[in-house]
Amino acid sequence: MGDTLRVCALYPELMNIYADRGNLLLLQRRCEWRGIGFELSASDLGEPLDPEGADLFYIGGGQDRDQALCARDLAEVKRDGIHAAAERGAALLAVCGGYQLLGSSYEMGEETLPGVGLVDLETVRSDGPRLIGNVAIEVDLGDGPRVLAGFENHGGRTRLGAGATPLGRVLKGHGNDGHSGFEGVRRGNVIGTYLHGPLLPKNAWLADWLIARALGRDEPLPPLDDAFENAAHVEARRAAGA
Ligand code: GLN
Repeated sequence: MGDTLRVCALYPELMNIYADRGNLLLLQRRCEWRGIGFELSASDLGEPLDPEGADLFYIGGGQDRDQALCARDLAEVKRDGIHAAAERGAALLAVCGGYQLLGSSYEMGEETLPGVGLVDLETVRSDGPRLIGNVAIEVDLGDGPRVLAGFENHGGRTRLGAGATPLGRVLKGHGNDGHSGFEGVRRGNVIGTYLHGPLLPKNAWLADWLIARALGRDEPLPPLDDAFENAAHVEARRAAGA
């Protein structure tokens, strides 16, 4: 693991709802400010994924129509690559539509789309309304409880299987399905969450956790002046009422 963070964005055009691309910009800036190199590549429809080609893989959210294209591609073209990447400890952040595709299946209207099967979950529909609003969750990634704050907007309900660990506990908002009290999923360095936002600019601590994990660093990254990032975090929590 070197001094350059190599990030691969999956479907950067199709899966970029709510400016999820802002997450990539924040990763880039926080690396550059610390003298860590940053390289961004993309893996689009029809392109197999090189598991050695990046330290951090990223999938944003998407509308059902775009998600359907990506679901088939993930299952048919990228499946082996993404499993091998997770196996070797690469980090993966998947947001909303991307998160829904990490499991076994995604129910869309009459159709059930395949997932990539990286974590034990499925996403189904319900007759209830879309789950929309500001959200705050409590997360412990190994160094004590922290808060993630953001925004969610999803029709799908995600059910974790017995073998899956949620990313966090809902403080305010709906989370995975509106009633379980859980949000997201975590398996090692793989994180899935419904929090859009973009998520990382409002929760810079998670960006740093991902960078450190992706680079295989045990010690925390050098601190930065986070006045703006902290203000964004406080405002996102305030909006959620947490
Ligand atoms: N299409 C998905 C749903 O509605 C996710 C949408 C999104 O990424 N915001 O459940």
